[in-house]
Amino acid sequence: MSTAVNRQPRIVLTPSGVFFFLIHFAAVAAVVAAPWYPPSAGVLIAAVLLFVVRKFGITGGFHRYFSHRSFKTSRFFQFCLAYLGGMAAQKGALWWAAHHRHHHQHSDEPEDLHSVKQHGFYWAHVGWILSDEYTEYDSQRVKDLTKYPELVWLDKYHVVPPVTLAIACLALGGWMGLLWAFCVSTVFLYHTTFCINSLCHLLGRRRFETGESSKNSFIMAILTLGEGWHNNHHHYPHCVRQGFKWWEIDPTYYAIKVLGWFGIVRDIKEPPKALRMA
Ligand SMILES: [Zn+2]
Ligand SMILES: [Zn+2]
Repeated sequence: MSTAVNRQPRIVLTPSGVFFFLIHFAAVAAVVAAPWYPPSAGVLIAAVLLFVVRKFGITGGFHRYFSHRSFKTSRFFQFCLAYLGGMAAQKGALWWAAHHRHHHQHSDEPEDLHSVKQHGFYWAHVGWILSDEYTEYDSQRVKDLTKYPELVWLDKYHVVPPVTLAIACLALGGWMGLLWAFCVSTVFLYHTTFCINSLCHLLGRRRFETGESSKNSFIMAILTLGEGWHNNHHHYPHCVRQGFKWWEIDPTYYAIKVLGWFGIVRDIKEPPKALRMA
């Protein structure tokens, strides 16, 4: 991948950039108007469920499966994970994995896509998303994934999963369903994911000297289904499990273990046993 990038804080209104602003506007409007137009209990439950399920699509799917190949599964369930993560409107699994692999290879080096240390909090959190430097991905980084035409198709048409979900929310829950179950929930998905790139390289504790700035954060682990153990993850990026101690809560790992009991996934990579002791 080219390292000739412009990391000035600038905003380019690509189609996905326009969508990004519109969904934030809708989410903030829904929250501000809530005292006068409160969402129903059903709409709120749908918003929370869609947050949790799609968050797993990102953490278990885009991150631990597609980016790190930390477990194996069938071609059908692989597609399900790509679709589920795709519903979070963070582009496609191949785009996500290619950029994430680059982050691990170049963490906190000048060419890191989203380094707080190199380019500041704003750039690491959202600046790189809003620039037009990374609308494409280096297919050489995901050669193991581009051999599946259905994944390439879904990545090319990455608008399909979020648009179908938005239509379903509107059809089943009306405008409040669209605003809360889709827009508010998606904005929470964005910023909890982005916080791993920004806050988890800024605040928290370090267990391992990993050569970059990654940190472990209990609060971020709660908000991201276990991804807040980011220093652990940078030390052993190819493990499914990121919370190494019993108290390092890692719901993504628990869910993948359960899927393993049912034979849906297999070959779950664990960290060395000595590290898993309390
Ligand atoms: Zn990182
Ligand atoms: Zn990773």
